[in-house]
Amino acid sequence: MAWGSHIFHIMLNWVLPERCPCCGAINPAGGPFCVSCWRNLEFLGPPWCCGCGTPFEFDRGDDAYCALCIAHPPLHDGIRAAVKYDDVSAQVVLRLKYGGKIGLARAIARQLVRHLPDDHTDLIITPVPSHWARMWSRTFNQSALIGQELAALSGIPFVPDILVRHKRTPTMRGLDVRRRKKAVGGAFAVLP
Ligand SMILES: [Zn+2]
Ligand SMILES: [Zn+2]
Repeated sequence: MAWGSHIFHIMLNWVLPERCPCCGAINPAGGPFCVSCWRNLEFLGPPWCCGCGTPFEFDRGDDAYCALCIAHPPLHDGIRAAVKYDDVSAQVVLRLKYGGKIGLARAIARQLVRHLPDDHTDLIITPVPSHWARMWSRTFNQSALIGQELAALSGIPFVPDILVRHKRTPTMRGLDVRRRKKAVGGAFAVLP
């Protein structure tokens, strides 16, 4: 999107009444989502795999891994998602990333903050960096926006420049897991 139309789009969002980020309906309730979409969002939480966050049908304890994580132990300490990724939640992401609805970053952070560890000692929040060309076309990094909101809500320091991006990755939309893995391979590094 060119600069001019992008600014125009942001201004329209500001002037026109608040719309539900999922379905686009005018939202008289004033919350981030209309009542119907709020009901259709599938919020995630324990019991779940302590590695990948896949929900369990019954509680296996806080340290339980799913079969996939046991077979391929993750290199991270755990991934958490606030909602299940489906047609409804995908609309939220798309409207933030491509629709310029930057206010959604706060709505997303509000759902994520409850999944942070209780002990905030030695924690920092850092976003995955955007490629400069994408920053140029989109003017913002959605990951940094959510990170800033999450830091404000939790009190955890926000440190934006820990990761560097070595290459531009293709858009992830429509790619399966294998292609996504290949696309981001070697794309990021930690600054020395
Ligand atoms: Zn809606
Ligand atoms: Zn797992």
